[in-house]
Amino acid sequence: MTIATDINHSGPGTAPVTMLNPDFPFGYDTYLQHPSGLGSIPEAARGTKVAVIGAGLSGLVTAYELMKLGLCPVVHEAGEIGGRLKTRSFAGAPSVTADLGGMRFPVSGRSFYHYVDKLGLRTEAFPNPLSDATSSTVIELGGKAHYARTPEDLPAFFHEVAEAWHDAVDDGAQFRQMQEAIRARDTGRIKQLWNVLVRDLDEQTFYGFIAASRAFKEAGFDHREAFGQVGFGTGGWDTDFPNSILEILRVVYTDADDGHRSIVGGAQRLPEALWHHAPEDLVHWPAGTSLASLHGGSPRGAVARITRPPGAGGGVGDFRIEEKWGRAAQYPAVVSTCQSWLLSTRIHTEEGLFPARLWTAMERSHYMQSSKTFVMVDRPFWKDVDPGTGRDVLSMTLTDRLPRATYLLDDGPDKPAVILLSYTWNDDALKWLALDADGRVELMLHSLEQIYPGVDIASHIVGEPITVSWESDPNFMGAFKANLPGHYRYQQRLFTHFAQDGLPEHQRGIFLAGDDISFTAGWAEGAVTTGLNAVWGVVKHLGGVSAPGNPGPGDLLEELGPISLD
Ligand SMILES: Cc1cc2nc3c(=O)[nH]c(=O)nc-3n(C[C@H](O)[C@H](O)[C@H](O)COP(=O)(O)OP(=O)(O)OC[C@H]3O[C@@H](n4cnc5c(N)ncnc54)[C@H](O)[C@@H]3O)c2cc1C
Repeated sequence: MTIATDINHSGPGTAPVTMLNPDFPFGYDTYLQHPSGLGSIPEAARGTKVAVIGAGLSGLVTAYELMKLGLCPVVHEAGEIGGRLKTRSFAGAPSVTADLGGMRFPVSGRSFYHYVDKLGLRTEAFPNPLSDATSSTVIELGGKAHYARTPEDLPAFFHEVAEAWHDAVDDGAQFRQMQEAIRARDTGRIKQLWNVLVRDLDEQTFYGFIAASRAFKEAGFDHREAFGQVGFGTGGWDTDFPNSILEILRVVYTDADDGHRSIVGGAQRLPEALWHHAPEDLVHWPAGTSLASLHGGSPRGAVARITRPPGAGGGVGDFRIEEKWGRAAQYPAVVSTCQSWLLSTRIHTEEGLFPARLWTAMERSHYMQSSKTFVMVDRPFWKDVDPGTGRDVLSMTLTDRLPRATYLLDDGPDKPAVILLSYTWNDDALKWLALDADGRVELMLHSLEQIYPGVDIASHIVGEPITVSWESDPNFMGAFKANLPGHYRYQQRLFTHFAQDGLPEHQRGIFLAGDDISFTAGWAEGAVTTGLNAVWGVVKHLGGVSAPGNPGPGDLLEELGPISLD
């Protein structure tokens, strides 16, 4: 955590903060753990095929739960299993890995960890700035570097910045009250607080919020600037300054940017494990059935077209899914989990399948750009101590130079290790877009040399760098969604679309899920929970019901759901 993170006012011993999102504080974690399961479908519907577009986390959670309920998910994937949970190995050392998308997962994301635990994956603390898992952190601003092992080592100025942020969210967004309500799982109180804030703050940017706060007004511009640099949790958030403050509040209320762990062996292990796992509590399918076995080992190909030709007698028919290489099949229900822009840019989707206002919401979705560049080094040399200063020779680094954030990742002293030389968003990510991997590394090393004169990082590099710019990948077109001011209405439409009673018959049966449908985009928890919404929608569409005593997300949407500003 950075100095600005520790805004836990309730003290130790109280109930934990979870990602009980204020827009819809439905307890997905308890829903998943309920002994009666998620519901049932009529016997006649067992084995019914349901198309699932995308084999990222959301698509696989959806498919896995549909399979458990006795349906036959047919997963389509344009790239590889895992989507934005993508892990790459360095060519010369396959056990040394880099997580190109999601890499650090907050322990408050209980639904995400439901699957991590169920599949027996090991996790470890992620070395964020100033966290216990980080030996030392350097914050370099305006050419001046500050070395710290703990937040207390930083000059008073940074503590003033942290204090200003605490005051700003307490004064302007009821932070203390909201976290208390989340801890207590007091859904009524959460909604009472949030529904007022949504109306007041939907049109406010993150920057506008802090600039208008009494605390930052009094503290002055240099404090706002430094806050942009050191931020909270994982560090600088100033590339989010133009986004809606509601997006930032969702993150800080739910501790999404704190208590991070990574998956040992790489984040992609989770979707891969979901694909291969044979659950015990299966309906309809023989023991040992997994998504992999249902698919003969590989997902179906990329979807190129979605239509809904008339059924027998001219009524509403099934959905027709056409693949890139021409194969087509019909399904009574479809779940699309790819970024929603792709439904117009990469997939020919019949326009009448969604209400016009939903199309508007999809097209207005705003995606963050993001770039990461990793190098493998011969050993974690940063643990060497400079005899002159007594400090680590290299530290986890936050800087206002090009790389912005540098992370040091190792798996023990005598093994190759990894430096995430630069992890950037938006404008900072676009600066890398036109450069190849080597060009990126050269510039990053040049910046780091200014911060660590005399430390020869390059001499430790082995093998080829690994780099990614998510916005240039046609299967994603961006890293993750972030609402701009005034976008609440769009997100509310997208999120609630899975409850389809109000839609005409020809628009029912196709569901949206995944990161950009969720209110907590950029966190894998939202991919999981929107997948569960889609499962509920499919079950209902096919005549099924929720399990007794375990109401599903659609059952409680009216009571707890996001308010409409439309
Ligand atoms: C740079 C970056 C950093 C992140 N950091 C974190 C983090 O630290 N912690 C965290 O919790 N989350 C993080 N996230 C977010 C997390 O990775 C996502 O929320 C999650 O992986 C999204 O899963 P999804 O299934 O919704 O979407 P995706 O993973 O995008 O899955 C959709 C799938 O659809 C496929 N597809 C596209 N077009 C078609 C087509 N025509 N036919 C068939 N399939 C198609 C895609 O190939 C993809 O596999 C990060 C994401 C990025 C990009």
